[in-house]
Amino acid sequence: MKHIGPHVSTTGGVQQAPLNARAIGATAFGLFTKNQRQWVVKPYDAATIDAFKKNLAECGYEPRYVLAHDSYLINIGSPDTTMRQKSLIALIDELTRCGRLGLSTLNIHPGSHLRAINEEECCILIVESINRALDKTAGVTVVLENTAGQGSNIGYRFEQLAAIIDGVEDKSRVGCCFDTCHAFAAGYDIRTAETYNETMAAFDRVVGLRYLRGLHINDAKSAFGSRVDRHHSIGEGTLGWEPFRFFMTDPRFDELPMILETIDEGRWPEEIKRLSKMAEG
Ligand SMILES: [Zn+2]
Ligand SMILES: [Zn+2]
Repeated sequence: MKHIGPHVSTTGGVQQAPLNARAIGATAFGLFTKNQRQWVVKPYDAATIDAFKKNLAECGYEPRYVLAHDSYLINIGSPDTTMRQKSLIALIDELTRCGRLGLSTLNIHPGSHLRAINEEECCILIVESINRALDKTAGVTVVLENTAGQGSNIGYRFEQLAAIIDGVEDKSRVGCCFDTCHAFAAGYDIRTAETYNETMAAFDRVVGLRYLRGLHINDAKSAFGSRVDRHHSIGEGTLGWEPFRFFMTDPRFDELPMILETIDEGRWPEEIKRLSKMAEG
């Protein structure tokens, strides 16, 4: 069985997320652990944590089908020391929040070099930051998302993800998330069975499918290889429905959360339904 659902809202508190997911028939979901536009937010109180765990269990979600996403402010590969330190503190806070909610994974965008350093130097800073964050926390895995490579974002080549994983000391607490829109925009084709198989084989060869902790299921507004990060509703973009059949029928992804970051909330129930149907074959 595939576990599919969107990145849901936490308006009214993080404990609302499982309820929001269940209301639209999701079998997995993503969420922010705090307001993603703020650096510092007060810790959860005990009542919030209890309510989240209770709602999660009552709605029938195992924690492994929930993939938290970090704040867009964080850049642990920043060439600016002050910004990198601020990002590290924020990452530690988010990993701690996930742990308190009983969640085991936090998806992060690896980082950006801001054209002040080169890509290799940026990867080294990212590795240092992850090692320090893992050292200060327990039980939660850092999940590196492949990016579209827009601007100066690292992570658009599988080799970059592999280089970061290579430098992380605790390999049991680092993983990857495969974003379909980002891969396509970064120049990894998935439009035919043949290109899909090639891309997945490359991911396995370079990174290793054993590191995969989740997928982001998005169509793209952007063109192949454009390195432009613009998501679209499934079937409406430059990918169309067909590539998603390959993902939905691939047994390697049965135990992973497949998170929709598609742009039209109103279409989520239909997207979940149709993708789930595809998964049944
Ligand atoms: Zn994504
Ligand atoms: Zn994106």
